[in-house]
Amino acid sequence: MEYKCDLCKKSISGGVLPYSEHVEDHIMELIKARHPDWVETDGICKKCYEYYKNELRGK
Ligand SMILES: [Zn+2]
Repeated sequence: MEYKCDLCKKSISGGVLPYSEHVEDHIMELIKARHPDWVETDGICKKCYEYYKNELRGK
């Protein structure tokens, strides 16, 4: 099953699952601020998750 990340617009195939269920609230807020159209049910790939997690810690 292929999953398309709405944040980086990349398709991920293989055992990678959307990260939405595991994303912390603070990261959710940051993503929503950057991507107003994004909803948590769209999910997030691991790469984006790591990216926003680092963004959050960089502040
Ligand atoms: Zn992504």
